[in-house]
Amino acid sequence: MKSNIKKLFQKSLNFESIFSESEKSIPNINSKENQNPKRSHLEEFQQQTSSICIFPLGIRENYPGNYSKYLETTLTHISQLQHINFEYALEDPKIQEGVPKLPLSKKILILDLDETLIHADFDEEFLDEKSNKYDAIIKFKTKKQDIEETCGDNDSTWCSGVEDEDDVHSVGIFIRKDVNEFLKEANKYFYVGIFTASVKEYADAVISFLDPENKLIKFRLYRNNCINFNDSFTVKDLRIFKNVDLRKIILLDNSMYSFAAQINNGILINSFFNDKNDSELSNALEYLINYIYPADDVRKVNEDFFNFRQIINDLNSCK
Ligand SMILES: [Mg+2]
Repeated sequence: MKSNIKKLFQKSLNFESIFSESEKSIPNINSKENQNPKRSHLEEFQQQTSSICIFPLGIRENYPGNYSKYLETTLTHISQLQHINFEYALEDPKIQEGVPKLPLSKKILILDLDETLIHADFDEEFLDEKSNKYDAIIKFKTKKQDIEETCGDNDSTWCSGVEDEDDVHSVGIFIRKDVNEFLKEANKYFYVGIFTASVKEYADAVISFLDPENKLIKFRLYRNNCINFNDSFTVKDLRIFKNVDLRKIILLDNSMYSFAAQINNGILINSFFNDKNDSELSNALEYLINYIYPADDVRKVNEDFFNFRQIINDLNSCK
């Protein structure tokens, strides 16, 4: 998170050139051939998203020195997604699996996991030789079916070598500085949960390592709870919580796409890999306690601070 983000934007945005570039790759999803009254809302949503062809920036692009460029590109992409009704995707029963009821008495703080709280190295090949460079080694089991669903046609390290029905994996993880203090302190003000785009088996193992007494992280949501766009990026639509009050819920995530459905409910944090000097969690905590906690409507405070909605509106009005 950067407090001078407004200035960065004012310096770096060039609406005209960004838009002419992005327009080439985005089909008009509102065109007549895409409208079919017989389709269910969910099918309509899937049809629309399958025709989207954007090239989202990966998490590796969101590093401190590239912050404004990352925002510029992701907000341009997200401005295109405003034509889509994300609510239709919530009709998918899979998305609703395991979603808890939220307490009404507290503000809700939802944390992303990978590159927000930790970074995992999925290269198991040389794990033994590299083991002392990690902060911890996490073991977890996966079922072949789960991994195939997650990977699609990808040929990444994460997906390769999974042959048995019940495979045991080991991953080395780096833990972001101040995670424990952050979780403890955040719990004094917020009802804290984790919403990750990773699979349950891996995420559960990491979360249980971070919170062994199961006291600091009150609920967990996983990849199946995300809206998946062609395996290119995932969106975490906060309306999966049936009783959500969007004035009182905030998502801290290193991927801007995660909060594309509710842009003013998101706080973007730089991606963490293994920088020991990183202090973004304590910066984020300061913002959360001083600005978000006392706010009547977190979306208004966030918009005043970051201007994400305004920038998206400006991008759309350039059409
Ligand atoms: Mg992440």
